[in-house]
Amino acid sequence: GDSGVPGRVRVAVRLRPRNGEEMIADADFADCVELQPEVKRLKLRKNNWDTDTFEFDEVLTEYASQKRVYEVVAKPVVEGVLDGYNGTIMAYGQTGTGKTYTLGQLGEEDVADRGIMVRAMEDILAQVSLETDSISVSYLQLYMETVQDLLDPANDNIAIVEDPKSGDVSLPGATLVEIRDQHSFLELLQLGEAHRFAANTKLNTESSRSHAILMVHVRRSLKTESNGNSHMTKSLKPPLVRKGKLVVVDLAGSERSEGHTLEEAKSINLSLSALGKCINALAENSSHVPFRDSKLTRLLRDSFGGKHCKDIVGYYNWSITTTSRGDNKHYHAMKVE
Ligand code: ADP
Ligand code: MG
Repeated sequence: GDSGVPGRVRVAVRLRPRNGEEMIADADFADCVELQPEVKRLKLRKNNWDTDTFEFDEVLTEYASQKRVYEVVAKPVVEGVLDGYNGTIMAYGQTGTGKTYTLGQLGEEDVADRGIMVRAMEDILAQVSLETDSISVSYLQLYMETVQDLLDPANDNIAIVEDPKSGDVSLPGATLVEIRDQHSFLELLQLGEAHRFAANTKLNTESSRSHAILMVHVRRSLKTESNGNSHMTKSLKPPLVRKGKLVVVDLAGSERSEGHTLEEAKSINLSLSALGKCINALAENSSHVPFRDSKLTRLLRDSFGGKHCKDIVGYYNWSITTTSRGDNKHYHAMKVE
């Protein structure tokens, strides 16, 4: 926005390295994307005489490591969550451009490959004290405007409940699992992924057509300082409680209709365009954000900082657009020229 206050959503782009197929195609390969990280721009060659230029808050080249991506786009959000704010990290882009790699990679073969979910939990576990604090996790899939529980497949139609006073969003029907160590978190992500695969096989669809949503609730009890005065001990205030929520969203593939059924395409278009409108409104610090337009945006309503969002300085939500060398259409960003 123009107000000097940082917008509530920042937008990054990440280009994945060429894969084997693209290397072999070599000269024939339609290479239309050029990154200009020093000016935070992406230049798109549409044909021999026409280019589009987009501006981002952060440009991550194909050489950006998972560690660097975490530090740039996720670490500030996680810090906010530990301080009791809600924060969201989303990946948007065509199927095959690296959304799941960026967010959900487990790094079983090489820890350097670990994605944002795993690094975020590692960071949170390192900073809380499990004697007084708690971490609990839900893992959901949103398909055709239906919320399904990835931790309990029987739970296939979860209601979204909004508290009209506080604006808080809750999912009373969703499984909430308490996390005490990284190992159990990795197991839970694997279980969720297996259930997602099974559910989508049953529905005869693909993961790329649904949104996967991980919610991490962090509840911290901060002991009040007793500043050494013995007479204070009798009137000790109850511990302060800070509740933050981290939401990580692996969005459905942004490609249009090809291979999707009409109903799926309509539903994906509805939620991605509703989300796009909300992100723009938040990024511009607009006072009206059209959250009501889809289940996805209703679900995320309180995740962008919630009722605190106006006070936030330095805690952002991030949307990461993943792309490849040949991707000539899927950008939701400010066009510069
Ligand atoms: P999406 O979830 O957007 O469909 P994936 O995350 O599944 O895409 O990525 C497609 C393939 O490209 C996967 O094999 C993944 O490991 C690989 N890949 C994506 N991004 C990167 C990257 N930055 N570095 C190395 N490999 C990547
Ligand atoms: Mg994926």
